[in-house]
Amino acid sequence: MLKAKNITKSYKNLQVLKGIDLEVKTGEVVSIVGASGAGKSTLLHILGTLDTPENGEVWIQNTNLFSLADDQLAKFRNQQIGFVFQFHNLLPEFTAFENISMPGLIAHQDPKKLEHRVKELMEMLNISHRAEHRPSEMSGGEQQRTAVARALVNDPKIVFADEPSGNLDSHNAEELHQLFFQLRERFNQTFVIVTHNEAFAQMADRTIEIKDGKIASQQAEVNS
Ligand code: ADP
Ligand code: ADP
Repeated sequence: MLKAKNITKSYKNLQVLKGIDLEVKTGEVVSIVGASGAGKSTLLHILGTLDTPENGEVWIQNTNLFSLADDQLAKFRNQQIGFVFQFHNLLPEFTAFENISMPGLIAHQDPKKLEHRVKELMEMLNISHRAEHRPSEMSGGEQQRTAVARALVNDPKIVFADEPSGNLDSHNAEELHQLFFQLRERFNQTFVIVTHNEAFAQMADRTIEIKDGKIASQQAEVNS
C-alpha cells in the first residue's frame, strides 16, 4: 500500500530525517511513536504529501507521489489521502455536514453518492445529531470525529493522523481509538497514526519508533 524509501529532510542545518524506509500494508493500523522533536510530524507530513522530502521516494500503490506534477499531486491528495490533525481544523462557518462534504465536493463526487457517504460516516461516528451544528457547538470528541469523517469522505487509500487524540480527555480518546479499528473492520481502511497515547500504541498492529530521525524499532504486537 505505502512504501517510503530513504526519506531525508533538513531544516537549515538540522537534519530531521536521516533515511527512513517504511512499508505499510492495506488495512494495517500503524502507530508512530517517539520523543518530542524526533521527527514524527515531519515524517507524517511527507508521507501525506503536505511537505516534500529532500531525498527519497514515497509510493502509494503504483504511484510515485513526488514524481507527480503539482496539480496531479493535489488531486491525488484530495482523493486518495485523508489527514486528521491534533486540532481538528474544521471550518468554523460551516456545519458538520458541510465540513465532512467539502473534500467530496472538491473531488466532484456525485451529489447523491456524496450525501449517502456523509450520512453513513456520521452514523458510524455517532455524530448524526450534529449534522447541522457548527464546530463551536460541538464537544471536542464530536469535533474530532467530524474531522475523521471528513478525512474518510472520499474513501481514501490511506489516512494519516497526527496526535488525533492529543487534545481529548481519556474517555473521548479511547472512543476515537476504537473507531479507527471499527473503520478498519468496515472499510479495510489503512491508518498511520502519530501518538503519545501508550494504550493506543499498544493496540496498533505495529508500532514504529522514531529516534533522532531514524527508525529505532518496529514492533508488531505479539498477539496480532
Ligand atoms: P515530532 O513530531 O517528533 O515532535 P517534528 O517532526 O515536529 O518532531 O520536529 C522535528 C524537528 O524538526 C524539531 O527539532 C523541530 O523543531 C524541527 N522542525 C520541524 N518543523 C520545522 C520547520 N518548519 N522549520 C524548522 N525546524 C522545524
Ligand atoms: P507536533 O507537536 O505535531 O510535533 P510542532 O508543535 O512540533 O508539532 O510543530 C507545529 C508546526 O510548527 C509544524 O508545521 C512544524 O513544521 C512547525 N515547526 C516545528 N518546529 C519548528 C521550528 N523550530 N521552526 C519553525 N517551524 C517549526
